[in-house]
Amino acid sequence: MAKQPMLKFVKIERAMPEKRAASLRRTDFHEIYAEYADAKAKEQASRCSQCGVPYCQSHCPLHNNIPDWLRLTAEGRLQEAYEISQATNTFPEICGRICPQDRLCEGNCVIEQSGHGTVTIGSVEKYITDTAWEKGWVQPIAPAQERAESVGIIGAGPGGLAAADVLRRAGVQVTVYDRYDRAGGLLTYGIPGFKLEKPVVMRRNEQLEKGGVRFVLNCNVGEDMSFDEIRAQHDAVIIATGVYKSRDLGGPGSGAEGIVRAIDFLTASNRKSFGDEVPEYESGELNAEGKRVVVIGGGDTAMDCVRTAIREGATSVKCLYRRDRANMPGSQREVQNAEEEGVQFEWLTAPKGFKGDPVTGVIVDRMRLGQPDATGRQSPEIIEGSEYVEPADLVIKALGFEPEELPTLWGVPELEVTRWGTVKAEFTTGATAMPGVYAVGDIVRGASLVVWAIRDGRDCAEAVLSNFDQKGAIAAE
Ligand code: FAD
Ligand code: SF4
Ligand code: SF4
Repeated sequence: MAKQPMLKFVKIERAMPEKRAASLRRTDFHEIYAEYADAKAKEQASRCSQCGVPYCQSHCPLHNNIPDWLRLTAEGRLQEAYEISQATNTFPEICGRICPQDRLCEGNCVIEQSGHGTVTIGSVEKYITDTAWEKGWVQPIAPAQERAESVGIIGAGPGGLAAADVLRRAGVQVTVYDRYDRAGGLLTYGIPGFKLEKPVVMRRNEQLEKGGVRFVLNCNVGEDMSFDEIRAQHDAVIIATGVYKSRDLGGPGSGAEGIVRAIDFLTASNRKSFGDEVPEYESGELNAEGKRVVVIGGGDTAMDCVRTAIREGATSVKCLYRRDRANMPGSQREVQNAEEEGVQFEWLTAPKGFKGDPVTGVIVDRMRLGQPDATGRQSPEIIEGSEYVEPADLVIKALGFEPEELPTLWGVPELEVTRWGTVKAEFTTGATAMPGVYAVGDIVRGASLVVWAIRDGRDCAEAVLSNFDQKGAIAAE
């Protein structure tokens, strides 16, 4: 009988790829984890117990066939592992890097529940696809035959690109419109390089272009081109515009110079890493160098801002959050990374105003957690008389994002939105009430995750294809 390569979790301990020392990583924007060496990836994959009912898979939004690609990796059959992995995930190396695995696949791995530490699913997924790129197994799309139908996709983020990939593979003529000068959406301009290095995103964009996806960049739909024009040029349109309206802060002094939005701060930093000229960075407006930085918010965007500020050379970086560590929305893994890099967290604090213009400080109330609200979460309450001033030269507001008002901006009142402003669309197909108009990703879900945008994009593309096929069948009758 062949030697069983799996079930090694009792003998082999969980090991992530090596993490670079905080003193080193705080000086650059490179990813913080190294790649597994071949033997290590094999070894870590072999810890999987090959569950009959794999909870990891059911909790992966893409239902990736995790046990199979782990087994193939453990057996050294990497090309087969890659084929299986890419069959359900358009960007496995990206998800492997930035999915919150502790809340998804790994958080539901049964060997964690038996006290052995989860299989490092994300790191193995990344390793498989990085290897595939290295070995030339990731090839541009080459459809078996071209189709006449064309689809316009508004938004080149992961949702739009995942849809583009599936449609193009089927031979559909695909055009992706984006207001930015580079494709990738938040993968390119939101998420910092220390989580996702930019060449990893750019090589995907290039492959899609080589495979026949047409990109129309610097095209702000609603300004440079109308929604109706796009609709008239294509058989179907997919809206994948994400959510970009930043939640704001009021209070005295909130309009002062030096109080900026997280998305502007992160975009400027990402643009710099491409070598672009960024006047707001050069002028110091969106640059943390030499400043006392205060970031307001406790989500993943706030974590990206504090860690970016450290790398830009801030003299101090503090994060204010109105709940405590256990009740923050951001990932604990990222808080730990931030702390290692020198960020200070001020839990149970909320800003009530600002001093100076340009800003010199944040007026802060201390908070305590009170009774649970309707959602069961304890509501933060102000501790009377606890006010103090936190000195700051740069304040970054990272309080979350909301959708822009698309029906108004685009002059399309018939595009239905929810009371939160997200586009009303069927979750399984992305179909809106407008014939031939679909929507996917954050613009439907509200601020969510890359892996959900990919799932939506793939599902929607399948629905568009099946609609084309039905129409074709009717026409042929
Ligand atoms: P987006 O990625 O936002 O792409 C939308 C695209 O549409 C953009 O390129 C935009 O320019 C374009 N667009 C918008 N309006 C127009 C218009 N009118 N005309 C033309 N183009 C337009 N998720 C994770 O899973 N892991 C993480 O670690 C993570 N970190 C994050 C960090 C930050 C700072 C932020 C802000 C988000 C993070 N997310 C993370 C969430 C994730 O990035 C999003 O859920 C995901 O990118 C949504 O994909 P999307 O395709 O719907 O939209
Ligand atoms: Fe886990 Fe994300 Fe990969 Fe799914 S896509 S297996 S959730 S890392
Ligand atoms: Fe393997 Fe864990 Fe998935 Fe089970 S839950 S198949 S042990 S990765």
